[in-house]
Amino acid sequence: MEKTLYYFTQMAGAADALAAALADGQNAFCIWTPEDFRKTYDERGHMTGIDCAPRHSDAVEVSLIMQEKDQKNAHRIASGRAGIRNKEQQAETLLQAAAAGLLSADGRLALLALVNVAYHSSGKIEGCHSIDSCASCEFCRRMIDSAEGNTLVICGACYADADQYKEFSWRQHSLNARILSSVLFTVDELQTLVIGNLCRFNEDGDTVNDIMARNYLRIAASHPDTSFGYWYKNAPAVEAGLHAEGIWTRDALPENVRFIHSSILIGFAARALWFDDAVFTVYPDAETTAAAVAAGAHECNGRRCRECGYTCYLHIRRAEALHIAEYLRTGKDNRARIMGAYLARVARLEALAR
Ligand code: SF4
Repeated sequence: MEKTLYYFTQMAGAADALAAALADGQNAFCIWTPEDFRKTYDERGHMTGIDCAPRHSDAVEVSLIMQEKDQKNAHRIASGRAGIRNKEQQAETLLQAAAAGLLSADGRLALLALVNVAYHSSGKIEGCHSIDSCASCEFCRRMIDSAEGNTLVICGACYADADQYKEFSWRQHSLNARILSSVLFTVDELQTLVIGNLCRFNEDGDTVNDIMARNYLRIAASHPDTSFGYWYKNAPAVEAGLHAEGIWTRDALPENVRFIHSSILIGFAARALWFDDAVFTVYPDAETTAAAVAAGAHECNGRRCRECGYTCYLHIRRAEALHIAEYLRTGKDNRARIMGAYLARVARLEALAR
């Protein structure tokens, strides 16, 4: 598939001079001018055409007065956008064929190859792979919207949503969500994914629907030597996926998956469901987190998973779900607002209990 880089400039008459500087010897490119012309160039910077066309949303601004390092950065962004755009276009074609029931066996594998399995060489889940959905998914958008009416909904402080500026991973994870929630793959097909010993489902985003849950469960079945931590908030989708895969009891749960139920309300642990291995709750401040830990919760608190022994992936399945407490990372004003809502809810629940 063609890989064309897109740029625009606000400087009249600058396109050809910019083209000479932007040519990389490998990729054709376009520059939109301030007069709304689109000039196209080959990989050596020779103009191949000019027309009027709306500026593409992937176009990166460039200017003649840029430093060389700024131009290199613009090239990196344009090239990254071209790469992810190609994947999005391929996926669109294959998903349309799938919706029409016309996707061949090779087409299914080509679609699956567009799913990204990330390796984390640093950061919180250092040493793990992850297969991610995105905060752009239908479920997350609903949850983030619901946080506007309820300060305690953790999705209002979503770290993944705050990462929208990480454009490439945001678009790639959106693509993951789209593919894995639309087409149910077989265990044999899913064996083609390359995953190491430890893998997290949904480091970003959530399970969109039961198809996605079933794909996750089948990925686990296709990689029996990998230990998976399956984070979720969308309980109905995960439960429907388990049932559709013939899993109705705790004894029938996959050996290599730990289900980590992420509580929706800050400071209030979700009720553990029959398939939960752990309930993960974010508490509004140090004191409430310490109280949860004193009451028996496992302390997460932003530690690296390696330091805690990868509890969420490896702990022994117990009859009762483990409780895990995490301290909310947020600014002073937001914490005060959340603490106010937390204390008001505690008071309401205590009044009801009397
Ligand atoms: S409890 Fe441990 S394994 Fe789970 S998220 Fe926290 S640090 Fe990672």
